[in-house]
Amino acid sequence: MSCYAAWNPSADDRMASASGGVATMLARTVLREGGVYFGTRWSDTLCAEVAWTEEDAEPFRNSRYVHSVFKPETRRQLQAFLEGGRKVLFVGTPCQVASLRALRDYPNLVCVDLLCHGTSPEEYLADEVKFLAKGRPVTDIRFREGPRFRMSLWNGTECLDAVDAERSPYLYGYLSGITLREACYRCPFASLDRTGDITLGDFIGIDRQNVSFVWTHSGKGENLVRACGCVLEERALEERLAYRPGILEASARHPLRDSFVRRLETEPFHSAVRHILRRYYLKLPFQKAWKWLHHQAHLAKKQLCNR
Ligand SMILES: Cc1cc2nc3c(=O)[nH]c(=O)nc-3n(C[C@H](O)[C@H](O)[C@H](O)COP(=O)(O)OP(=O)(O)OC[C@H]3O[C@@H](n4cnc5c(N)ncnc54)[C@H](O)[C@@H]3O)c2cc1C
Ligand code: SF4
Repeated sequence: MSCYAAWNPSADDRMASASGGVATMLARTVLREGGVYFGTRWSDTLCAEVAWTEEDAEPFRNSRYVHSVFKPETRRQLQAFLEGGRKVLFVGTPCQVASLRALRDYPNLVCVDLLCHGTSPEEYLADEVKFLAKGRPVTDIRFREGPRFRMSLWNGTECLDAVDAERSPYLYGYLSGITLREACYRCPFASLDRTGDITLGDFIGIDRQNVSFVWTHSGKGENLVRACGCVLEERALEERLAYRPGILEASARHPLRDSFVRRLETEPFHSAVRHILRRYYLKLPFQKAWKWLHHQAHLAKKQLCNR
């Protein structure tokens, strides 16, 4: 139906969210109307799992780049709310939304599918966190700081470890397409045929940071987007299609994927991924030096031209 660039008017909310903080605004709207919100948050054991709330959307904010577990009892709870006539908002990956759509078509269910690069198995993240934490308690894991991809481990308000994506084996393996679940490389939902009433993603290609891509597919989706209080700017869908993964094609299987999988047969995740990325890390200082030289040459040329 409609396509928007959208963002939460609060700068603090945007900073704490994955992109424009729109999912949080949609959730708050449904909760205010007496509805229930299902999304993904960390469990007590730091496993990403689908959970629900009727009060507070905050623990669900931001993206967790790992497979989120949708337990049968959580599904049953969701169905009970629907049968009882409560409005339910579900935000999740397109495959999770498709599995819900296999139920009856409930008029009181609004589904949001996220544009999805893929997810890594939960065991990989558990092993990496154990390796990085070295016995220290961890209460939160973050993958983004506003528009920046950065993996950080927290114990309450204390940051235990924080590394930018290019230096984080977990995040680099995920983003480069080495460590996704096998099914994600053949994802049938990475297409224009969306599973939700609303599609949400990063508005890649727009000349502004922390802006969400919002695409509505039904009247109830459109109504919720218009009621949620986000700033909405109508845009052409084609603008977002310039970046294809998740919407026109599945993420590519990285050439190092097979070597990584072979290593995993004899090594834990943290060791296998570091071995595979060793060559990349060795190249990194040279790439940086090369970029720096390039930049200096550019500055020198500019100075000469200005004389
Ligand atoms: C695994 C994953 C891959 C993604 N890949 C892309 C991509 O390739 N391109 C792109 O444009 N956008 C991608 N996104 C979407 C993007 O990161 C944002 O989630 C989206 O733009 C919504 O941002 P927001 O600020 O409105 O959400 P927020 O207000 O920050 O809320 C985040 C929402 O994401 C949900 N969520 C968090 N982690 C998971 C998870 N593991 N599984 C299911 N739901 C989860 C939460 O329940 C919450 O509803 C991905 C998201 C996830 C979770
Ligand atoms: S890439 Fe496809 S299969 Fe993988 S988590 Fe996303 S929607 Fe599901």
